[in-house]
Amino acid sequence: MRVLITGGAGFIGSHLADACLARGDEVDIIDDLSTGSFRNIQHLKGHPRFHYTIETVLNQPVLSEVMDQCDVVFHLAAAVGVKLIMESPVHTIETNVRGTEVVLSLANKKKKHVMIASTSEVYGLSEQLPFREDGPLVMGATTKHRWSYACSKAMDEFLALAYYREKKLPTTIVRLFNTVGPRQTGQYGMVIPTFVKQALAGRPITVYGDGTQSRCFGFVGDVVGALMKLMDEQAAIGQVFNIGSDQEIAIGELARRVRELTGSSSEITFLPYDEAYEEGFEDMPRRVPDISKVRDMVGFAPTMTLDGILRSVIAYELDGSLPDM
Ligand code: UDP
Repeated sequence: MRVLITGGAGFIGSHLADACLARGDEVDIIDDLSTGSFRNIQHLKGHPRFHYTIETVLNQPVLSEVMDQCDVVFHLAAAVGVKLIMESPVHTIETNVRGTEVVLSLANKKKKHVMIASTSEVYGLSEQLPFREDGPLVMGATTKHRWSYACSKAMDEFLALAYYREKKLPTTIVRLFNTVGPRQTGQYGMVIPTFVKQALAGRPITVYGDGTQSRCFGFVGDVVGALMKLMDEQAAIGQVFNIGSDQEIAIGELARRVRELTGSSSEITFLPYDEAYEEGFEDMPRRVPDISKVRDMVGFAPTMTLDGILRSVIAYELDGSLPDM
């Protein structure tokens, strides 16, 4: 099998490249290094089955050529991270909507199976917990930039499902919940690498809001395993799947775990959302997936505890080491 991973130099994409190579696939990646980093794929340079193209997916002639050689496409290239989205809303909308349009239209020419990476952010402010794939998506006002990310990804989902229904293009959609592990950068707002870096440097650990909001953190190794299994599963075509962990933790408690596991004496500070992001910023108090659909389809079950995940991130931040995945 020859796989194309858009966004393959990113956090999740590079782990997916590693896992596909490990099972014997030929792997192509395309990445414009906007949020991805060469450091994530440096170790693969020279690997006989690894090929990389540093380019945006919006460059259609280049993408078309790379895609022609591949059997399946994992489309992970996107603008991600709440901080990035708040700072660059135009870039977010254009990258996420146009990029997916281009990927789907080119894939359709050769009928390549495409997996579209969507996000738990699409559930927005829904209070129907745990979130099920057939449940409602509740967006806030368009004046709140945060929701442009959810809307752009929801549009990607609609388009992928439309290609499947109307043009018989095999597409599968995955809604990734908070995914963490080594190589994730805190630069675009993600909480775990941010807290770990702060704790290791002895700087204050910045909890936004009152810290009672909760999330479920899935290990990147588990997540990429699910992506590969779903891509191999014909019955998954034309469907949407939640992927992640369903073990919930409040962000204040997470800050204490990070401090304890790093042995740090950093103080934990609380920063109002208005100061962390912008006035009127809306956060969701809870985000918990129902993962029964992916479990029933491919036997998915998270294997890593939160402490295990935190230890792997701490080890990576200290010396760049990776756990066995
Ligand atoms: N958060 C925080 N401090 C930080 C970064 C994030 O308290 O330095 C909070 C954020 O407000 C949210 C949670 O941690 O409630 C998860 O944030 P992240 O950006 O990692 O992902 P999100 O779930 O918001 O997409």
